[in-house]
Amino acid sequence: MAEVILKPGREKSLVRHHPWVFSGAVREVRGRPAPGETVDVLSAEGGFLARGAYSPESQIRVRAWTFNPEEAVGPAFFRSRLINALEVRETLMPGNGTDCMRLVSSESDGLPGLVVDRYADYLVCQFLTAGAELFRATIVAELEKLTRCAGIFERSDVDVRHKEGLAPRTGCISGREPPDLVTVREGGLKYLVDVRGGHKTGFYLDQRDNRACLARYASGREVLNCFSYTGAFGVAALKGGAHCVVNVDSSRAALELARKNAEINGFSHADVKYTEADVFSLLRQYRDRGRRFDIVVLDPPRFVESRSTLMRASRGYKDINLLAFKLIRPGGLLFTFSCSGLMERDLFGKIVADAALDAGREARIVNVLTQSSDHVVSLSFPEAAYLKGLVCSVW
Ligand code: SAH
Repeated sequence: MAEVILKPGREKSLVRHHPWVFSGAVREVRGRPAPGETVDVLSAEGGFLARGAYSPESQIRVRAWTFNPEEAVGPAFFRSRLINALEVRETLMPGNGTDCMRLVSSESDGLPGLVVDRYADYLVCQFLTAGAELFRATIVAELEKLTRCAGIFERSDVDVRHKEGLAPRTGCISGREPPDLVTVREGGLKYLVDVRGGHKTGFYLDQRDNRACLARYASGREVLNCFSYTGAFGVAALKGGAHCVVNVDSSRAALELARKNAEINGFSHADVKYTEADVFSLLRQYRDRGRRFDIVVLDPPRFVESRSTLMRASRGYKDINLLAFKLIRPGGLLFTFSCSGLMERDLFGKIVADAALDAGREARIVNVLTQSSDHVVSLSFPEAAYLKGLVCSVW
Protein backbone atom coordinates (compact mmCIF):
# COMPACT_ATOMS: atom_id res chain seq x y z
CA MET A 1 0.00 0.00 0.00
CA ALA A 2 1.26 3.51 -0.81
CA GLU A 3 2.17 5.70 2.14
CA VAL A 4 1.72 9.39 2.83
CA ILE A 5 4.25 10.75 5.31
CA LEU A 6 3.37 13.95 7.16
CA LYS A 7 5.67 16.84 8.04
CA PRO A 8 6.79 16.92 11.67
CA GLY A 9 4.06 18.11 14.04
CA ARG A 10 1.28 17.87 11.43
CA GLU A 11 -0.35 14.75 12.90
CA LYS A 12 -2.36 16.58 15.58
CA SER A 13 -5.72 16.67 13.85
CA LEU A 14 -5.57 13.00 12.78
CA VAL A 15 -4.69 12.03 16.34
CA ARG A 16 -7.98 13.70 17.32
CA HIS A 17 -9.73 11.70 14.55
CA HIS A 18 -10.38 14.69 12.33
CA PRO A 19 -10.43 12.93 8.95
CA TRP A 20 -8.65 15.42 6.66
CA VAL A 21 -5.01 15.68 5.60
CA PHE A 22 -4.27 18.92 3.73
CA SER A 23 -1.67 18.95 0.97
CA GLY A 24 0.49 21.37 2.96
CA ALA A 25 0.90 18.81 5.74
CA VAL A 26 2.37 16.15 3.42
CA ARG A 27 6.14 15.70 3.38
CA GLU A 28 6.35 12.75 1.04
CA VAL A 29 4.28 10.21 -0.87
CA ARG A 30 5.80 6.72 -1.14
CA GLY A 31 4.46 4.79 -4.10
CA ARG A 32 2.24 6.14 -6.86
CA PRO A 33 -1.33 5.99 -5.56
CA ALA A 34 -4.08 6.49 -8.15
CA PRO A 35 -7.03 8.83 -7.42
CA GLY A 36 -9.13 7.40 -4.59
CA GLU A 37 -6.67 4.61 -3.84
CA THR A 38 -6.30 3.60 -0.20
CA VAL A 39 -3.10 4.84 1.44
CA ASP A 40 -1.62 4.68 4.92
CA VAL A 41 -0.87 8.01 6.56
CA LEU A 42 2.21 8.00 8.78
CA SER A 43 3.68 10.61 11.08
CA ALA A 44 7.13 12.07 10.40
CA GLU A 45 8.40 9.52 12.94
CA GLY A 46 6.79 6.70 10.94
CA GLY A 47 3.88 5.88 13.26
CA PHE A 48 0.51 4.82 11.78
CA LEU A 49 -2.11 7.58 11.94
CA ALA A 50 -4.88 6.66 9.54
CA ARG A 51 -5.83 4.75 6.41
CA GLY A 52 -7.66 6.83 3.85
CA ALA A 53 -8.47 7.78 0.30
CA TYR A 54 -5.87 9.65 -1.73
CA SER A 55 -7.07 12.67 -3.73
CA PRO A 56 -4.16 13.93 -5.86
CA GLU A 57 -6.11 16.88 -7.26
CA SER A 58 -7.67 18.18 -4.07
CA GLN A 59 -6.22 20.43 -1.37
CA ILE A 60 -7.60 17.79 0.98
CA ARG A 61 -5.06 15.20 -0.06
CA VAL A 62 -6.28 12.29 2.09
CA ARG A 63 -9.61 11.63 3.81
CA ALA A 64 -9.42 9.00 6.51
CA TRP A 65 -11.60 5.92 6.24
CA THR A 66 -10.28 4.47 9.48
CA PHE A 67 -7.90 5.17 12.34
CA ASN A 68 -7.54 1.48 13.10
CA PRO A 69 -4.40 -0.10 11.55
CA GLU A 70 -6.10 -3.52 11.62
CA GLU A 71 -9.11 -2.42 9.55
CA ALA A 72 -8.92 -3.16 5.80
CA VAL A 73 -10.92 -0.94 3.43
CA GLY A 74 -13.12 -3.21 1.34
CA PRO A 75 -16.68 -4.56 1.15
CA ALA A 76 -16.78 -5.63 4.81
CA PHE A 77 -15.61 -2.17 5.90
CA PHE A 78 -18.29 -0.38 3.89
CA ARG A 79 -20.93 -2.84 5.05
CA SER A 80 -20.15 -2.25 8.71
CA ARG A 81 -20.02 1.54 8.33
CA LEU A 82 -23.34 1.55 6.48
CA ILE A 83 -24.98 -0.73 9.05
CA ASN A 84 -23.80 1.61 11.79
CA ALA A 85 -25.15 4.71 9.97
CA LEU A 86 -28.53 2.99 9.51
CA GLU A 87 -28.61 1.94 13.17
CA VAL A 88 -28.02 5.54 14.23
CA ARG A 89 -31.00 6.64 12.11
CA GLU A 90 -33.19 3.95 13.68
CA THR A 91 -32.61 5.52 17.08
CA LEU A 92 -33.81 8.93 15.88
CA MET A 93 -37.45 7.95 15.39
CA PRO A 94 -38.84 10.97 13.59
CA GLY A 95 -42.31 9.37 13.94
CA ASN A 96 -45.54 10.27 12.22
CA GLY A 97 -44.75 7.91 9.35
CA THR A 98 -41.78 9.99 8.21
CA ASP A 99 -40.16 8.09 5.35
CA CYS A 100 -37.49 10.52 4.18
CA MET A 101 -34.20 11.19 5.88
CA ARG A 102 -30.46 11.39 5.46
CA LEU A 103 -29.06 7.90 5.97
CA VAL A 104 -25.37 8.62 5.46
CA SER A 105 -23.76 11.94 6.25
CA SER A 106 -20.26 11.69 4.79
CA GLU A 107 -17.42 12.33 7.28
CA SER A 108 -19.81 12.34 10.23
CA ASP A 109 -20.71 8.70 9.51
CA GLY A 110 -17.10 7.70 8.88
CA LEU A 111 -17.67 7.65 5.12
CA PRO A 112 -16.06 10.80 3.69
CA GLY A 113 -17.53 11.81 0.34
CA LEU A 114 -20.68 9.68 0.58
CA VAL A 115 -24.16 11.13 1.06
CA VAL A 116 -27.22 8.87 0.99
CA ASP A 117 -30.75 10.19 1.39
CA ARG A 118 -33.88 8.09 1.56
CA TYR A 119 -37.04 9.30 -0.16
CA ALA A 120 -39.77 6.72 0.49
CA ASP A 121 -38.74 3.59 -1.50
CA TYR A 122 -35.81 5.24 -3.25
CA LEU A 123 -32.29 6.15 -2.25
CA VAL A 124 -30.45 9.14 -3.69
CA CYS A 125 -26.63 9.06 -3.48
CA GLN A 126 -23.83 11.53 -3.96
CA PHE A 127 -20.25 10.37 -4.48
CA LEU A 128 -18.30 13.55 -3.79
CA THR A 129 -14.67 12.43 -3.59
CA ALA A 130 -12.17 10.24 -5.44
CA GLY A 131 -12.31 7.69 -2.62
CA ALA A 132 -16.09 7.40 -2.59
CA GLU A 133 -16.00 7.22 -6.40
CA LEU A 134 -13.51 4.33 -6.39
CA PHE A 135 -15.73 2.23 -4.11
CA ARG A 136 -18.99 3.28 -5.77
CA ALA A 137 -19.95 -0.23 -6.98
CA THR A 138 -19.18 -1.77 -3.58
CA ILE A 139 -21.21 0.89 -1.77
CA VAL A 140 -24.18 0.52 -4.13
CA ALA A 141 -24.14 -3.28 -3.75
CA GLU A 142 -24.11 -3.03 0.05
CA LEU A 143 -26.88 -0.40 0.06
CA GLU A 144 -29.05 -2.65 -2.11
CA LYS A 145 -28.64 -5.52 0.36
CA LEU A 146 -29.08 -3.45 3.50
CA THR A 147 -32.04 -1.26 2.54
CA ARG A 148 -33.96 -3.33 -0.02
CA CYS A 149 -34.94 -0.07 -1.69
CA ALA A 150 -36.83 -0.03 -5.00
CA GLY A 151 -34.08 1.91 -6.73
CA ILE A 152 -30.95 4.00 -6.23
CA PHE A 153 -30.52 7.27 -8.08
CA GLU A 154 -27.21 9.11 -8.32
CA ARG A 155 -26.98 12.91 -7.99
CA SER A 156 -23.24 13.43 -8.21
CA ASP A 157 -23.83 16.72 -10.03
CA VAL A 158 -22.06 18.94 -7.53
CA ASP A 159 -19.24 21.47 -7.87
CA VAL A 160 -17.04 19.80 -5.26
CA ARG A 161 -16.39 16.94 -7.69
CA HIS A 162 -14.39 19.37 -9.86
CA LYS A 163 -11.89 19.80 -7.05
CA GLU A 164 -11.43 16.03 -7.09
CA GLY A 165 -10.97 15.92 -10.85
CA LEU A 166 -14.29 14.11 -11.25
CA ALA A 167 -16.97 14.89 -13.83
CA PRO A 168 -20.59 15.32 -12.71
CA ARG A 169 -22.84 12.31 -13.12
CA THR A 170 -26.55 11.57 -12.54
CA GLY A 171 -28.86 8.68 -13.27
CA CYS A 172 -30.42 5.50 -11.98
CA ILE A 173 -27.68 3.14 -10.77
CA SER A 174 -29.72 0.30 -9.31
CA GLY A 175 -33.26 -1.10 -9.44
CA ARG A 176 -36.20 0.93 -10.68
CA GLU A 177 -36.07 4.45 -12.06
CA PRO A 178 -37.74 6.77 -9.57
CA PRO A 179 -40.82 8.61 -10.84
CA ASP A 180 -40.43 12.27 -11.84
CA LEU A 181 -41.81 13.24 -8.44
CA VAL A 182 -41.40 10.95 -5.44
CA THR A 183 -44.04 11.41 -2.72
CA VAL A 184 -42.56 11.40 0.77
CA ARG A 185 -44.10 11.71 4.22
CA GLU A 186 -42.87 13.87 7.04
CA GLY A 187 -44.56 15.00 10.21
CA GLY A 188 -48.05 14.03 9.00
CA LEU A 189 -47.60 15.89 5.70
CA LYS A 190 -46.79 14.80 2.16
CA TYR A 191 -44.20 16.40 -0.07
CA LEU A 192 -43.40 15.86 -3.74
CA VAL A 193 -39.66 15.61 -4.36
CA ASP A 194 -37.89 16.03 -7.68
CA VAL A 195 -35.00 13.67 -7.02
CA ARG A 196 -33.66 14.00 -10.60
CA GLY A 197 -33.37 17.74 -10.90
CA GLY A 198 -34.21 19.31 -7.54
CA HIS A 199 -31.70 21.05 -5.29
CA LYS A 200 -29.16 18.85 -3.53
CA THR A 201 -30.76 15.40 -3.61
CA GLY A 202 -34.20 16.94 -4.14
CA PHE A 203 -35.42 18.27 -0.82
CA TYR A 204 -34.25 20.21 2.24
CA LEU A 205 -34.32 17.30 4.67
CA ASP A 206 -32.06 19.33 6.97
CA GLN A 207 -34.94 21.71 7.81
CA ARG A 208 -37.30 18.99 9.11
CA ASP A 209 -37.12 19.92 12.79
CA ASN A 210 -37.32 23.62 11.92
CA ARG A 211 -40.45 23.10 9.83
CA ALA A 212 -41.99 21.46 12.90
CA CYS A 213 -40.89 24.45 14.99
CA LEU A 214 -42.58 26.85 12.56
CA ALA A 215 -45.77 24.78 12.62
CA ARG A 216 -45.92 25.16 16.41
CA TYR A 217 -45.93 28.96 16.17
CA ALA A 218 -48.02 29.42 13.04
CA SER A 219 -51.60 29.26 14.29
CA GLY A 220 -53.68 32.18 13.04
CA ARG A 221 -50.66 33.99 11.67
CA GLU A 222 -49.75 35.59 8.36
CA VAL A 223 -46.51 34.02 7.14
CA LEU A 224 -44.06 35.31 4.54
CA ASN A 225 -41.91 32.37 3.35
CA CYS A 226 -38.87 33.85 1.57
CA PHE A 227 -36.69 31.60 -0.60
CA SER A 228 -39.51 29.09 -0.43
CA TYR A 229 -38.16 26.58 -2.98
CA THR A 230 -40.94 23.92 -3.11
CA GLY A 231 -42.84 25.52 -0.25
CA ALA A 232 -42.03 23.10 2.55
CA PHE A 233 -41.99 25.76 5.29
CA GLY A 234 -45.24 27.14 3.89
CA VAL A 235 -46.98 23.76 4.00
CA ALA A 236 -45.75 23.19 7.56
CA ALA A 237 -47.10 26.62 8.56
CA LEU A 238 -50.50 25.80 7.03
CA LYS A 239 -50.56 22.52 8.94
CA GLY A 240 -49.88 24.57 12.08
CA GLY A 241 -52.95 26.66 11.31
CA ALA A 242 -51.43 29.68 9.57
CA HIS A 243 -54.05 32.16 8.43
CA CYS A 244 -52.21 32.83 5.17
CA VAL A 245 -48.85 32.08 3.55
CA VAL A 246 -46.96 34.00 0.87
CA ASN A 247 -44.26 31.86 -0.77
CA VAL A 248 -41.55 33.83 -2.56
CA ASP A 249 -38.91 32.38 -4.86
CA SER A 250 -37.13 33.40 -8.04
CA SER A 251 -37.74 29.97 -9.58
CA ARG A 252 -41.09 29.46 -11.28
CA ALA A 253 -40.59 25.69 -11.37
CA ALA A 254 -40.03 25.61 -7.60
CA LEU A 255 -43.20 27.64 -7.03
CA GLU A 256 -45.22 25.31 -9.26
CA LEU A 257 -44.11 22.41 -7.13
CA ALA A 258 -44.90 24.46 -4.00
CA ARG A 259 -48.47 24.82 -5.28
CA LYS A 260 -48.73 21.04 -5.82
CA ASN A 261 -47.35 20.44 -2.33
CA ALA A 262 -50.08 22.59 -0.83
CA GLU A 263 -52.71 20.84 -2.95
CA ILE A 264 -51.77 17.26 -2.04
CA ASN A 265 -52.07 18.22 1.61
CA GLY A 266 -55.54 19.67 1.10
CA PHE A 267 -54.54 23.32 1.42
CA SER A 268 -55.61 24.34 -2.07
CA HIS A 269 -58.44 26.52 -0.76
CA ALA A 270 -56.37 28.13 1.92
CA ASP A 271 -55.04 31.61 1.43
CA VAL A 272 -51.69 30.74 -0.15
CA LYS A 273 -49.82 32.91 -2.60
CA TYR A 274 -46.93 32.06 -4.92
CA THR A 275 -44.85 35.08 -5.81
CA GLU A 276 -42.08 34.82 -8.37
CA ALA A 277 -39.71 37.60 -7.37
CA ASP A 278 -36.28 38.56 -6.15
CA VAL A 279 -36.54 38.52 -2.35
CA PHE A 280 -34.25 41.55 -1.95
CA SER A 281 -36.44 43.80 -4.06
CA LEU A 282 -39.77 42.35 -2.94
CA LEU A 283 -38.93 42.98 0.73
CA ARG A 284 -38.17 46.62 -0.19
CA GLN A 285 -41.50 46.91 -1.99
CA TYR A 286 -43.37 45.47 0.99
CA ARG A 287 -41.54 47.91 3.29
CA ASP A 288 -42.47 50.88 1.09
CA ARG A 289 -46.10 49.75 0.80
CA GLY A 290 -46.42 49.16 4.54
CA ARG A 291 -47.24 45.46 4.04
CA ARG A 292 -46.75 43.61 7.33
CA PHE A 293 -46.56 39.95 8.41
CA ASP A 294 -46.65 38.04 11.70
CA ILE A 295 -43.89 35.59 10.73
CA VAL A 296 -41.12 35.99 8.18
CA VAL A 297 -38.97 33.00 7.17
CA LEU A 298 -35.59 33.74 5.58
CA ASP A 299 -33.88 30.62 4.27
CA PRO A 300 -31.57 31.94 1.55
CA PRO A 301 -29.24 29.84 -0.60
CA ARG A 302 -25.61 29.51 0.42
CA PHE A 303 -24.31 33.08 0.06
CA VAL A 304 -20.75 32.23 1.16
CA GLU A 305 -18.86 30.26 -1.49
CA SER A 306 -15.38 30.86 -0.09
CA ARG A 307 -13.61 32.89 2.59
CA SER A 308 -13.10 35.71 0.10
CA THR A 309 -16.88 36.15 -0.33
CA LEU A 310 -17.66 36.16 3.40
CA MET A 311 -17.78 39.98 3.61
CA ARG A 312 -20.11 40.36 0.66
CA ALA A 313 -22.28 37.51 1.91
CA SER A 314 -22.48 39.13 5.33
CA ARG A 315 -23.90 42.27 3.72
CA GLY A 316 -26.49 40.12 1.94
CA TYR A 317 -27.59 38.50 5.20
CA LYS A 318 -27.68 41.89 6.93
CA ASP A 319 -29.77 43.37 4.15
CA ILE A 320 -32.52 40.75 4.10
CA ASN A 321 -32.66 40.46 7.88
CA LEU A 322 -32.94 44.23 8.29
CA LEU A 323 -35.77 44.38 5.76
CA ALA A 324 -37.51 41.40 7.35
CA PHE A 325 -37.39 42.99 10.82
CA LYS A 326 -39.15 46.04 9.41
CA LEU A 327 -42.01 43.93 8.04
CA ILE A 328 -42.83 42.05 11.23
CA ARG A 329 -45.75 43.16 13.39
CA PRO A 330 -44.97 43.64 17.09
CA GLY A 331 -45.12 40.23 18.76
CA GLY A 332 -44.28 38.49 15.50
CA LEU A 333 -41.41 36.13 14.75
CA LEU A 334 -38.42 36.04 12.46
CA PHE A 335 -37.14 32.62 11.40
CA THR A 336 -33.72 33.34 9.95
CA PHE A 337 -31.18 30.84 8.60
CA SER A 338 -27.72 30.55 7.14
CA CYS A 339 -26.65 27.28 5.54
CA SER A 340 -23.14 28.52 4.73
CA GLY A 341 -20.61 26.41 6.59
CA LEU A 342 -18.07 29.25 6.46
CA MET A 343 -20.46 31.60 8.29
CA GLU A 344 -19.82 30.92 11.98
CA ARG A 345 -22.78 30.92 14.34
CA ASP A 346 -21.37 33.82 16.35
CA LEU A 347 -20.93 36.00 13.28
CA PHE A 348 -24.41 35.12 12.06
CA GLY A 349 -25.84 36.13 15.44
CA LYS A 350 -24.00 39.46 15.25
CA ILE A 351 -25.31 40.15 11.76
CA VAL A 352 -28.89 39.48 12.85
CA ALA A 353 -28.39 41.66 15.94
CA ASP A 354 -27.03 44.51 13.79
CA ALA A 355 -29.97 44.15 11.45
CA ALA A 356 -32.48 44.46 14.33
CA LEU A 357 -30.65 47.49 15.68
CA ASP A 358 -30.61 49.24 12.31
CA ALA A 359 -34.26 48.36 11.76
CA GLY A 360 -35.09 50.00 15.08
CA ARG A 361 -36.61 46.80 16.46
CA GLU A 362 -36.12 45.01 19.73
CA ALA A 363 -35.72 41.27 19.30
CA ARG A 364 -35.14 38.31 21.59
CA ILE A 365 -33.99 34.85 20.60
CA VAL A 366 -36.68 32.33 21.48
CA ASN A 367 -35.16 29.29 19.70
CA VAL A 368 -31.70 28.39 18.45
CA LEU A 369 -32.04 26.08 15.46
CA THR A 370 -29.73 23.73 13.62
CA GLN A 371 -29.87 20.96 11.03
CA SER A 372 -32.22 18.08 11.75
CA SER A 373 -30.84 15.20 13.79
CA ASP A 374 -30.29 12.78 10.89
CA HIS A 375 -27.67 15.26 9.59
CA VAL A 376 -25.37 14.09 12.36
CA VAL A 377 -22.19 15.96 13.27
CA SER A 378 -19.19 13.89 14.32
CA LEU A 379 -17.58 15.36 17.43
CA SER A 380 -14.23 15.15 15.65
CA PHE A 381 -15.60 16.95 12.61
CA PRO A 382 -17.42 20.13 13.74
CA GLU A 383 -17.31 21.45 10.14
CA ALA A 384 -20.33 19.23 9.49
CA ALA A 385 -22.54 21.63 11.47
CA TYR A 386 -23.42 24.02 8.67
CA LEU A 387 -27.05 25.06 9.25
CA LYS A 388 -27.70 27.83 11.75
CA GLY A 389 -31.05 29.33 12.54
CA LEU A 390 -32.61 31.72 15.03
CA VAL A 391 -36.21 32.33 15.93
CA CYS A 392 -36.57 35.89 17.21
CA SER A 393 -39.55 37.43 18.91
CA VAL A 394 -39.77 40.93 17.45
CA TRP A 395 -41.18 44.06 19.13
N1 SAH B 1 -36.53 27.18 2.23
C1 SAH B 1 -36.41 26.12 1.23
C2 SAH B 1 -35.01 26.01 0.67
C3 SAH B 1 -34.47 27.30 0.07
S1 SAH B 1 -33.26 27.01 -1.13
C4 SAH B 1 -36.87 24.81 1.84
O1 SAH B 1 -36.91 24.69 3.06
O2 SAH B 1 -37.18 23.89 1.08
C5 SAH B 1 -33.04 28.60 -1.75
C6 SAH B 1 -34.10 29.07 -2.74
O3 SAH B 1 -33.86 30.45 -2.96
C7 SAH B 1 -34.06 28.43 -4.12
O4 SAH B 1 -35.32 27.87 -4.38
C8 SAH B 1 -33.76 29.56 -5.09
O5 SAH B 1 -34.53 29.46 -6.28
C9 SAH B 1 -34.19 30.77 -4.30
N2 SAH B 1 -33.49 32.03 -4.57
C10 SAH B 1 -32.17 32.24 -4.68
N3 SAH B 1 -31.91 33.58 -4.78
C11 SAH B 1 -33.12 34.20 -4.73
C12 SAH B 1 -33.53 35.56 -4.76
N4 SAH B 1 -32.63 36.53 -4.86
N5 SAH B 1 -34.84 35.84 -4.67
C13 SAH B 1 -35.75 34.84 -4.57
N6 SAH B 1 -35.42 33.54 -4.51
C14 SAH B 1 -34.13 33.22 -4.59
